[in-house]
Amino acid sequence: MSDKKFVRAIFPGSFDPITNGHLDVINRGIKLFDELIIAVGQSPVKNQLFTPDERVEMIAELVADMPGVSVESFDCLTVEYAARKKADVILRGLRSLTDVHYELKLAMTNRAVAGIETVFVMTSEQYGFTSSTLIREIASLGGNVSNLIPQNVYNRLKKRLKK
Ligand code: ADP
Repeated sequence: MSDKKFVRAIFPGSFDPITNGHLDVINRGIKLFDELIIAVGQSPVKNQLFTPDERVEMIAELVADMPGVSVESFDCLTVEYAARKKADVILRGLRSLTDVHYELKLAMTNRAVAGIETVFVMTSEQYGFTSSTLIREIASLGGNVSNLIPQNVYNRLKKRLKK
């Protein structure tokens, strides 16, 4: 029998909305872990565009064909959620040095308070500048963000901004 350990990871974030950069992280993550749970945070985000339920719905459409990948929302501390799911690691993505500064503090705090490790993957260069915040801003000013987000998200975004 193989003694390889089964590794379950959570990928927590706001995902408002999910971007091609997030998808890149997910695609890299599934190569590393046996199970990956995308966890949409419920904490109130400033300038929220989509509700957590809407974000989960869009992500579910995108990961439907990915074995071992699922999505749900959570409304507690990330480390509490990780413990509840019996996750071995937290997955996070890195784009820039700014991310490194922030993520390092977060990862060290999570390890100090809960003993959980964080694994980072670097995004493809082409998504190094993509962020949900920028997408919300550009889209609300009428800019074209179709290259930066999945088609289903783009369709919903267009509808949302028409209202
Ligand atoms: P949070 O509010 O927790 O930062 P986000 O949805 O903004 O939630 O990001 C979730 C994770 O995805 C973070 O680790 C972030 O650094 C990473 N991430 C966001 N955009 C990208 C991208 N374009 N490429 C790689 N990682 C990204």
